[in-house]
Amino acid sequence: MPRRRYARALQEETGQPTVAPQQAKPAQAQANTNPMIAMQRLIGNAAIQRFGGLNEPDSGALGPNSTSTTSNTTTTNTTASTTPQAPGLLSADGVVRAMSYYNIRAADYPPHIISQIQGALGVAETGRATPEMVQAVADFQSQNGLAVDGMAGPRTLPAIFEQGLDTEQTEEVFADEALDALDQWDSKSPEERAQALIDAANAGLAEHKISECTSTIVDLNVLAQFDFTTWNIELGKGVFEAATISNADYADAANTVYHESRHAEQWFSMARLLAGQGKTAQEIATQMGIPLNIANEAAALPYQPGSMEALVANGWYESVYGVDADYRNKTLTDLEKAGTDLEAAEADLAANDTPANRAKVATLRQKRQKLYDEYHNLPEETDAHRVGDAIEARILLKAELPDEG
Ligand SMILES: [Zn+2]
Repeated sequence: MPRRRYARALQEETGQPTVAPQQAKPAQAQANTNPMIAMQRLIGNAAIQRFGGLNEPDSGALGPNSTSTTSNTTTTNTTASTTPQAPGLLSADGVVRAMSYYNIRAADYPPHIISQIQGALGVAETGRATPEMVQAVADFQSQNGLAVDGMAGPRTLPAIFEQGLDTEQTEEVFADEALDALDQWDSKSPEERAQALIDAANAGLAEHKISECTSTIVDLNVLAQFDFTTWNIELGKGVFEAATISNADYADAANTVYHESRHAEQWFSMARLLAGQGKTAQEIATQMGIPLNIANEAAALPYQPGSMEALVANGWYESVYGVDADYRNKTLTDLEKAGTDLEAAEADLAANDTPANRAKVATLRQKRQKLYDEYHNLPEETDAHRVGDAIEARILLKAELPDEG
């Protein structure tokens, strides 16, 4: 069976476009006149999500408008000499930079938030960033595939404070339901096989009072995306049409569905954040471009300002709608274009194998890899990949266990 993947498939591997053709999208959402939201609708969580087999780096901990982890190494010597040290992964300068991260953002990291981080990591709860704390954050990051910088920012906080689809119990139930559905593969249609994964993810969302997603199973191999303007997950049924499926391919499909469902959870969290800031459901719907009925459900569950949940949601909000929104949109647009350009160059190479055409393909591959890394490093993508990858690993592990009967 040819190995078919979703959006994250390598183009050279499958020959399929990695990005959903926009004309294939359902047009049920009202036209949104906010250009930023319109753009996000086009490219938001679209199927450019993952490219299997690429070398995915650890995520960086900082967005483009945040303090750089690498460029400000020159100003810390004098401070470093007076800072008490704690053993760990971070250098003395790294400790100073990490502590500064929290101190500079004191409004987002008041003492009760710092204490929660310290408590979660098992270090002394002082309410102020300490060397021991930032080393513990670095240790946590190292163990969780995150960039190691000691700064519990928008990528690290959701990993420390697991919620919703990222909680152990919910993952376990989803994995069991997914494998039950796999057992019934032979008696189900491709649509039913695909829908079973979406149903299982929706059960996880419902368990955490997050609005469930509608779904559209479409006749395309390479497609999976959450459209927040319609609260709909579109899923290509290609992989579900095979007579049999390997555990690896099935876990991969489950990863994709869980990843997209996690995006729904993120968007719901952002709506709850706005609700906690006093926004009405109508205002939330307009500001975020989400359906009013979803905004209504979120408005009934406001996050308390200053809470950890609000801080986590704010990390996603700043990336998608806030200070980093332009960077995000540019990254997604450029990545999509890089994929198209690469595909064209590969077609040229296939038709005419010249050194120049080879060089062009190599250059475009590098360019797309760099853009992919930037895309993966977006806070909401780092998070969705982390949660999706965890479910894939869990399903693979469970699938290989002896059947308990
Ligand atoms: Zn994604």
